[in-house]
Amino acid sequence: MPKNKVQFQEGYSLIKFQKAYGSEEKCRQKLFRYRWPNGYVCPKCGHNRYYVLKARQLYQCTECRYQSSLISDTIFASTKLPLTTWFLAIFLITQAKEGMSALSLRRFLGISVNAALTMKHKLQHVMKNADDKLLLEGFVELDDVYWGGKRSGGKRGRGAPGKTSFLAAVSRNIKGHPIHMRMSKIEACNSSEVASWSQRHIHPEAVVISDAFNPFNRLSDTVAFHGKIRASTIYTDPKNKIFHWVNTMIGNVKKAIHGTYHSVSSKHLPRYLAEFCFRFNNRFCVGTMIGSLIKHAANTKPKPQRILTFAEV
Ligand SMILES: [Zn+2]
Repeated sequence: MPKNKVQFQEGYSLIKFQKAYGSEEKCRQKLFRYRWPNGYVCPKCGHNRYYVLKARQLYQCTECRYQSSLISDTIFASTKLPLTTWFLAIFLITQAKEGMSALSLRRFLGISVNAALTMKHKLQHVMKNADDKLLLEGFVELDDVYWGGKRSGGKRGRGAPGKTSFLAAVSRNIKGHPIHMRMSKIEACNSSEVASWSQRHIHPEAVVISDAFNPFNRLSDTVAFHGKIRASTIYTDPKNKIFHWVNTMIGNVKKAIHGTYHSVSSKHLPRYLAEFCFRFNNRFCVGTMIGSLIKHAANTKPKPQRILTFAEV
């Protein structure tokens, strides 16, 4: 039986992490390189010569004299926590296959629950931003999913009251192996929402397969080819593997969210989905996932927690 490439790849041990990110100075050097890979750039005028004001850990532009810090204008802006704590959180979140709750983060990092929750939401926001830039290509399985809902009884699934709708899509290569996945919330499962979602997340040259649910009807306007399979032939035929990967991923994500977080409200769901997608989409490089997330964080604008608590799609 061939080895699973993801499970058997060389991991990124805590010892290796400590060697690379074990001090505030090492973290500062890493963040500097991720933020300014070609050398410092003044955020105000774009000039690249600067002085270091060591006492206040600021950079001052020699041209316009604008002062900035390493974390200003990034997702780390105004944090009171050291970078070593942030980067250890990034290590923990990227290496935990099923995700990591804010309570677990709090215990590992020795910080308050609120600080752990803020940190988690900000890092999820970074992961969402990173995945927003990714378009699914090739052969794409697409399905609609319904999450939670406080009301019991009544209709289940499609159209059930109180549930949050989201779309799930997995791209496959010619061998049928999954490559990337995207799951994100939509306001309602109707044809205009589905078409707009497809334009944002699926490459126009992709081939998309869904079931024959009416809201998928306009997909042929946004992708190269849209194939519809009647639901009766999908669910009654055990040999039908057309939606194998998207269904597997939906099951895994639901199980992990229930297991790790117990419940996630509709307004936070997009970021939790983004966290799973980011980890899945970077699963072949668990070591570089840490650097990749730090790089995205360095290039993500500040987002105060009070704004993060509002719904994000
Ligand atoms: Zn300047």
